[in-house]
Amino acid sequence: MLFKEVIGQDSIKENLIQTVLNDRISHAQLFHGKLGAGTFALALAYAQFIFCHNKQETDSCGTCPSCLKIKNLSHPDLHFSFPVQLEAKKKTSDSFVQEWREMVIENPYSSEQNWYRKNGNENKKGLIGVDESAEISKKISLKAYEGGYKISILWLAENMNAAAANKLLKLIEEPPNNTLIFLCVENLESILPTILSRTQVIKLASLSDLIIAKNLEEKHNLDSQRAIEIASYVNGDYSVALNELTLGDEGNFFFENFVSWMRLCFKKDVAGAVKFVAEIQKMGKEKQKAFLLFVLSIFQKSLVGNFVGMESVKTSESQKAFIKNFMPYIHERNIGHLHEIMSEAHYHIDRNANAKILFLDLSFNLFKLIKK
Ligand SMILES: [Zn+2]
Repeated sequence: MLFKEVIGQDSIKENLIQTVLNDRISHAQLFHGKLGAGTFALALAYAQFIFCHNKQETDSCGTCPSCLKIKNLSHPDLHFSFPVQLEAKKKTSDSFVQEWREMVIENPYSSEQNWYRKNGNENKKGLIGVDESAEISKKISLKAYEGGYKISILWLAENMNAAAANKLLKLIEEPPNNTLIFLCVENLESILPTILSRTQVIKLASLSDLIIAKNLEEKHNLDSQRAIEIASYVNGDYSVALNELTLGDEGNFFFENFVSWMRLCFKKDVAGAVKFVAEIQKMGKEKQKAFLLFVLSIFQKSLVGNFVGMESVKTSESQKAFIKNFMPYIHERNIGHLHEIMSEAHYHIDRNANAKILFLDLSFNLFKLIKK
């Protein structure tokens, strides 16, 4: 992956490039942020630049033998670890690496959920176990094939269990010569403090709506209206934006569902809510999560419409028309609570809560909260 293929994050790219050109690369670095903000994409572009035989001022060459090997993730000195759904005879990433490579080559912004879904079981969380740490240690202790660095990238390192983390800690404390360890982490709280204190943390901010919309337009041939619409509710996460595309041409689908949900909440229509929830249940987990984000984005836009004015609301004309009528119901007295229940629901769906109970409960809360 070339730096120029990584979306946004310009100042971080510049800093990473300087560490290579000035020969001061830290041996353990932690990229903190969403995969959809580009943590893995950056770590990969960084590794490619470090290995490139023909570095340019601001990027790898993209054509040397080393760059070509990285392009299909087969560089012998670059190793990947990622959470796997452990089986008796499959305890390390290597048993799953073919599928994982396919996914990441196709989309370096793939999410954790994309990975589990590709494995055929999106409801089971993976783990980086102690056998994997042993494997990392073994691989980076070997002599480099190409005589330079050996690099190990951990994709979602927060999925290490305690034994794996302790073993990795030893490796970070006493690294073999010329080894680099890059951790990509979404949840910093799950990382051992002792590991944290020994790594250089690089914090990635969420991408701006503008950057996401521009990339959706340019790379996925989306019309600008739809691109702006998607960017406006994915919270700066390019993985979520791309997942939206794979949901198909269903931009209006969420909106229509939202409108009918709000209508029945206004009417406090219990039977309608039960019917609605049955439909939502058919969506599946990922789509439910995206729907909740979408709902939250309409609440936020309504608030902006209320307090700043409709000219500051970025969305399609049909949504604007709806928001104009809807916005008196969203205000400083209920937005905090609305935000809280939606975010909590998103959190619980992600952890496999029962969607039927959860959305019904949400509906009853909305009965009470949505009023002038
Ligand atoms: Zn190159």
